[in-house]
Amino acid sequence: MERIAPRRDVALMKGYHSAQVDVEVRLNTNESPYPPPLEWKQALAQQIEKIDFNRYPDRSAWQLRSEIAKLHKVEPEQVFCGNGSNEVLQAILLAFGGASRTALVFEPTYALHSHIARITQTNVAIAQRDENFSINLDSLVKEIEQAKPSVSFFCSPNNPTGMVDSPQVLDVGLKQNSGLVVVDEAYGQFSSFSALSLFDEELPLAVVRTFSKTWSMAASRLGYMIAPTWVVQACESVILPYHLDALKQQAGILALKFEKEMQQRVNELVDQRNLLFAKLEELDLQLWPSEANFILFRPLKMSGYRLWEELLKRSILVRDCSSWPRLDNCLRVSIGTPQENNIFIQALQEVLNE
Ligand code: PMP
Repeated sequence: MERIAPRRDVALMKGYHSAQVDVEVRLNTNESPYPPPLEWKQALAQQIEKIDFNRYPDRSAWQLRSEIAKLHKVEPEQVFCGNGSNEVLQAILLAFGGASRTALVFEPTYALHSHIARITQTNVAIAQRDENFSINLDSLVKEIEQAKPSVSFFCSPNNPTGMVDSPQVLDVGLKQNSGLVVVDEAYGQFSSFSALSLFDEELPLAVVRTFSKTWSMAASRLGYMIAPTWVVQACESVILPYHLDALKQQAGILALKFEKEMQQRVNELVDQRNLLFAKLEELDLQLWPSEANFILFRPLKMSGYRLWEELLKRSILVRDCSSWPRLDNCLRVSIGTPQENNIFIQALQEVLNE
């Protein structure tokens, strides 16, 4: 029998994957190197006892949204949760993108913005960051005028460069735009500026965050957006019923009780990032200043892929970004524990000095 082919555009798509191989030092997906607090695990185990597993979960995830709202001093109606921030991005594009609409991205940036746009049949307008990977204000105005995007994606700190989009960039982006401005802050807690400071019910601004990094909960798949009520309502109408299971809702509610511990981890990782950056500066590398939990670098005297392979031989996995736009030979290393960072830097010194 003849098999049905997938949609033509889907057949041409490559998924977005990072290698999952067994290594001793895993520094390729920007997760937290630390497990969540033990008390959180214990509290969650107690909550599991209370879940009515024969019943659907609270469809509106109201308690979780209320707790996130408290954290950011907004209303629960201004919070939308998803299975990871990727699902939040998908809901935004399902609601505000789609056929005959355009999403604007500034390369190099997080590949999923354009990937999910294409999956939702949204046109993708690709603009370029300048030679330092910042967004130039004049070209920003021009790009928005030309593309007339329904959704403009900013990513701050930007994955994979680690650089923050300035308040001026977002200001111009918002003033120039009749579409929705999405600021992906998956790494927002590591940086000194957050677009949440601009948040207003009257502004078409959505700030997306995740529990995967700072909250040490990548396995739980929980992300959220702070956005005006009408944006949240639109996203709710495209999401599947009961999309957030009861266990995940509890995991998120309980995590928020450990904000102090989360902040401590962030501070430690920022210190470690600064230490690692200083050590990388002593080597033959091109570097970009990072306000995230990772650092992008390019070896100047050998190929990025060879360096990646040499590190892997030593059981260290970093991200090979060479196939991303304008990032030939670039690798990205996530900040690990002090011990992991030492193993990484020693191996790097060894390979580069060989
Ligand atoms: N946005 C950015 C910029 C990211 O780097 C990531 C994770 N790689 C995500 C969103 C998605 O994170 P999650 O779905 O785990 O919340």
